[in-house]
Amino acid sequence: MPTIDHDRLRDAIAAICAAGGSADREARIVADNLVDANMAGHDSHGVGMIPTYITNLLNGGVTLNAHAEIVVDNGAIVVIDGHSGYGQVIGQEAMAIGIERAQKFGAAVVGLRNAHHIGRIGQWGEQCAAAGLVSTHHVNVIGHKAYVAPFRGSDARYVTNPYCAVMPATDANPATVLDFATSFVAMGKIRVARNKGEPAPEGALIGTDGKPNRDPNIMYTEKLGGALMPFGEHKGYGLALLNEILPAAMTGAVGCRPDTRFDPPKTINNMLSVIIDPMKLVSRARFNSETDATIAHVKASPPADPTKPVLVPGDPERAKWAERQAAGVPVDDETWREITQSAIGVGMTAAQLNAIAGLAA
Ligand code: NAD
Repeated sequence: MPTIDHDRLRDAIAAICAAGGSADREARIVADNLVDANMAGHDSHGVGMIPTYITNLLNGGVTLNAHAEIVVDNGAIVVIDGHSGYGQVIGQEAMAIGIERAQKFGAAVVGLRNAHHIGRIGQWGEQCAAAGLVSTHHVNVIGHKAYVAPFRGSDARYVTNPYCAVMPATDANPATVLDFATSFVAMGKIRVARNKGEPAPEGALIGTDGKPNRDPNIMYTEKLGGALMPFGEHKGYGLALLNEILPAAMTGAVGCRPDTRFDPPKTINNMLSVIIDPMKLVSRARFNSETDATIAHVKASPPADPTKPVLVPGDPERAKWAERQAAGVPVDDETWREITQSAIGVGMTAAQLNAIAGLAA
């Protein structure tokens, strides 16, 4: 398994995007977003997405060098169309608009529709948090087959619909970044298991008989057609359902249904974000002291396992980042093979890609 210095990996992914027709800025934003997901430990949303992106691009599913466009403007409430552009660019631009509106009005609601895959949602919450803002994000996924079965169901009806809520850093604590798929695990984690030849996590999948199944390959064939389970039984399902409906019904987008699939398939995200300036509600001192007191109180719980202290959301990603900055980003052989095929598909050679990544030819 190659381990690649993160800066070299950024350059390699940017080179693939540029060869695919992205302007330098777009190529760099896509690459940074994907490598940042790897750095945070979410390989499911890291560079392993490139094969899907390039397939979608070559199928006409990604609009190159597109920008976020405001299509409904009510001041603090906006709807933005991503025109099927790379979600990394569209997401960043949509959040910049939302941040500007929240700073002006105290709060903003951003309905983002029709962006190609926007990656790790935590990144969008972190962008808001860097501006001192609290944010929540409901996300649905459309354009391809469904992956996730509803609670009590036995076949897939929607996708992994992530939820994200982020609080900005205080003087004493870094940002609290809650960010997860509403399925038992993210679909990318099934891809990672398949690429490593490992079984899917126990409890993650069911087969067409509705019974538990650990073979990740069942998610990759229409015929076998397994499904991911929601996390947390009816609770995770309920949140997934709201994530399915809110970013569709409130932005003019749609949910994941057979009639809303694209042919050929592509991956489109719609997102409803609420962005709040906490300083319009309380003083910074009050916000910080209450946040810090609660985090200290919770973290003081004696760990059940002394090697595993209580964490807050965002801690695991920061720890992984520090580790990978020093040691590099592991990319499994199958994922690198797929990325290489994508590079070849946009006119690069394997030798060129490996040279940029610092790997032997
Ligand atoms: P996950 O199950 O690893 O959960 C991650 C969350 O749990 C983070 O907020 C993390 O800080 C927190 N966490 C982990 N361990 C913790 C602990 N011990 N104590 C406290 N908090 C802890 O994430 P996932 O469901 O596999 O999702 C992975 C990524 O996939 C997310 O970034 C998500 O946005 C992304 N995703 C994107 C899409 C899309 O369509 N764009 C779809 C699904 C998922």
